[in-house]
Amino acid sequence: MTTAEIAVIGGSGLYALEEGFTPRERLDLETPFGKPSDTIVVGEIAGRRVAFLPRHGVGHRISPTELPVRANLWALKSLGVRKLISVSAVGSLKEEIAPLHLVVPDQLIDRTKSRVNSFFEGGIVVHVGFADPFCPQLSALLASCADAAGATVHRGGTLVVMEGPLFSTRAESELYRSWGASIIGMTALPEAKLAREAEICYAILACATDYDCWHPAHETVTVEMVVQNLLRNTALARQIIQSVVSRIDPSADCSCHHALANAIITDRRFITEDHRRKYGILIDKYLQS
Ligand SMILES: [Zn+2]
Repeated sequence: MTTAEIAVIGGSGLYALEEGFTPRERLDLETPFGKPSDTIVVGEIAGRRVAFLPRHGVGHRISPTELPVRANLWALKSLGVRKLISVSAVGSLKEEIAPLHLVVPDQLIDRTKSRVNSFFEGGIVVHVGFADPFCPQLSALLASCADAAGATVHRGGTLVVMEGPLFSTRAESELYRSWGASIIGMTALPEAKLAREAEICYAILACATDYDCWHPAHETVTVEMVVQNLLRNTALARQIIQSVVSRIDPSADCSCHHALANAIITDRRFITEDHRRKYGILIDKYLQS
């Protein structure tokens, strides 16, 4: 059985890891929630096993709303992933976050509306703490590796996740700015919520590609602008991933790995054999007594 304790989900512009990554196996996995976005490639960086999944599929075929996020996170969990780095393109909502800057956000605002946010359904209810949606240790490591790679990196900041696929209106962009948000994207949710339910440490490396549509002196965001700036940032993102992977301690314990302790509210008498078959990988360790 193939395993990997570290995984990377690549966003727009990052469809493969290439240099520094030695691919070993390609896995077409099936989960209780369907198939993941694409084949998961398991390989090595600096002698460590890493699973890579292109979020939108190779060729960018799946829209943010249609992403099989539950299948993606379940597949990674079933490989034994404990640390997950997500790479995402975002728009900047602040003057000081210029295109090509990197952000490691520490907060989220959910403006999605057509997505399932939890693995748990059909008679089992779980309320997981999400006050701090990102793993602080993994985020700190990611930011310091980005810094060491020579990037301009902003530590912390609030990421607004919108439904898309259209970009924001000017009024929406100004509203999010008035809330003090730093960046805007379309994919961090429900990914971050499902990573927490799967008890996986999760952090985002966000690459700013544009100023959304609020900046009077910059053109309104277009796909061409996003793609051009992403291509400029891809090599840097790969370099940062290599350095993070070589410095992670994959077996280190973290509060993220205990997120479901005291979170399962359903009376144990109502948790059936079917629930245990479906959700065993997440809940069995809490149902032993
Ligand atoms: Zn953690």
